[in-house]
Amino acid sequence: MNMGSELTYRRPENQPPPESYSPKPNKQSWTFVRYMLREQRLVFVLFGIAIATSVFTLLPSSTHITTDAYSVSESVQLMNPQRSVYPTRFESFNMGGKIPLGLKRKGLRILTNVVGTLNMLGLAKRIGARFLLTSTSEVYGDPLQHPQVETYWGNVNPIGVRSCYDEGKRTAETLTMDYHRGAGVEVRIARIFNTYGPRMCIDDGRVVSNFVAQALRKEPLTVYGDGKQTRSFQYVSDLVEGLMRLMEGEHIGPFNLGNPGEFTMLELAQVVQETIDPNAKIEFKPNTEDDPHKRKPDITKAKELLGWKPKVPLRKGLPMMVSDFRQRIFGDQKNPAITTASTTTA
Ligand code: UDP
Repeated sequence: MNMGSELTYRRPENQPPPESYSPKPNKQSWTFVRYMLREQRLVFVLFGIAIATSVFTLLPSSTHITTDAYSVSESVQLMNPQRSVYPTRFESFNMGGKIPLGLKRKGLRILTNVVGTLNMLGLAKRIGARFLLTSTSEVYGDPLQHPQVETYWGNVNPIGVRSCYDEGKRTAETLTMDYHRGAGVEVRIARIFNTYGPRMCIDDGRVVSNFVAQALRKEPLTVYGDGKQTRSFQYVSDLVEGLMRLMEGEHIGPFNLGNPGEFTMLELAQVVQETIDPNAKIEFKPNTEDDPHKRKPDITKAKELLGWKPKVPLRKGLPMMVSDFRQRIFGDQKNPAITTASTTTA
């Protein structure tokens, strides 16, 4: 039996095709048109399109996500009046603030470094590169353990003013470890503590750059809060050495890279006075929310596995930064008051 023949329509034999034959009209599209014309549906659709268009046109472009390289490092907006010219890495970037250098288009904005890290991990996987995540001591938040060891999980406020940066970096570490375990990407993770040195951005609001620039400009040093919070300051060449050892070595990390020398902000202000201008005034200002009370890296792991430790103490590193700042602020090396102060401490 031929099953197929049962399924084939056959016109009865000897019967001519109907004279008025025409292709079947597209019933579905007519039904749709009739449906749209009934009960003013078309008017509502057009009205909806007009609203959507105006909303997307008027909304600030800050809702866009970008893969711009800037997003990997810092997120920005001028929201904190204490931070003079540039917004900081803790501030999100969605309220029409200043656009940082090198970031020309307003559409190129992002809130954290997460998307950038993900993109770079994807790239590292594709081209077989070794990937370095420059993470931060911020992953420890306001630490309850002191000094901070890499095994400490931290104490981070997930909804505070620093959260965008802190949680972003924590997520970036998670992604990095995941790409390592799951996709075989060779990775290294450094947790960088407060670093200073020549060529640092003069007005980005960090404490060392603020104090140095203020002392050079004969402005008061702005100490936030009571100035008793501590940080550990690392000279940039020590960091570079640590990062190179990390990339050339076999250990993934995370590694704390920082100088264990711990200073209160008042002590730092004093070192800046000694280095630049003994008469520099101190002005207390309200502190920012969620400011960590103390920070000091435990660098045992880096010492043992990378054979690394910082060599430049604050009192040696600061004058090197000062001469660079002096040149950039004044355009020359000859500010008499500063030269005298520097010589005194050298
Ligand atoms: N700080 C300060 N005066 C300033 C800038 C910062 O007293 O002009 C304080 C700030 O409140 C914080 C510490 O210095 O307690 C370090 O600030 P920074 O932004 O350099 O680094 P982070 O807080 O990320 O460690």
